[in-house]
Amino acid sequence: MRNERGLLIVMSGPSGVGKGTVRKALFSRPDIELHYSVSVTTRKPREGEVEGVDYFFRTREQFEQMIRENKLLEWAEYVGNYYGTPIDYVEKTLAEGKDVFLEIEVQGAMKVRQAFPEALFIFLAPPSLSELEKRIIGRGTESKDLIENRLQAAKEELEMMDAYDYVVENDEIELACERIKAIVMAEHCRRERV
Ligand code: 5GP
Repeated sequence: MRNERGLLIVMSGPSGVGKGTVRKALFSRPDIELHYSVSVTTRKPREGEVEGVDYFFRTREQFEQMIRENKLLEWAEYVGNYYGTPIDYVEKTLAEGKDVFLEIEVQGAMKVRQAFPEALFIFLAPPSLSELEKRIIGRGTESKDLIENRLQAAKEELEMMDAYDYVVENDEIELACERIKAIVMAEHCRRERV
């Protein structure tokens, strides 16, 4: 029996763990149907990022107005920029019975837990801290200061792992996707008993 409302899936993980890559691989699979909630941010677009696909890029003033108007399900400040989840898309898509996927950092995820305790929380973990450092430094899209800040944020984020329902190791992208798919399927089976 299918639940009328979709499942809200929240994936977090430290900077550099490969959340974006895993998410894109997950969304390119034909055997799992998820709906990605595009976030709003005040961060500048990176090369190749597209408005409305990767993020909605906004000014701080515009973002603060969205907070005041309660248009965000959650929001957080991360390494000097705001990030937030527009509430309308999430509500509408869940009400249509579709599964929504959020890829957000840990402070925001904890706020989602308060608003949607029934959501499914997955933490994407690196094989090791040294591997994570290598990936953050190797990405090459950020200045030295920003790399330091992201490393610090990543260490703090790793400490929050235990607050999640599942921890998925990202040792290999396709394996991580398989694990997430299995978790989502199991969660549907658990919730949709007759
Ligand atoms: P990046 O700047 O690398 O795209 O993202 C930085 C961090 O912000 C990542 O951990 C990402 O998951 C998180 N993030 C992206 N969108 C949101 C959002 O809507 N809310 C929150 N709380 N974090 C977000």
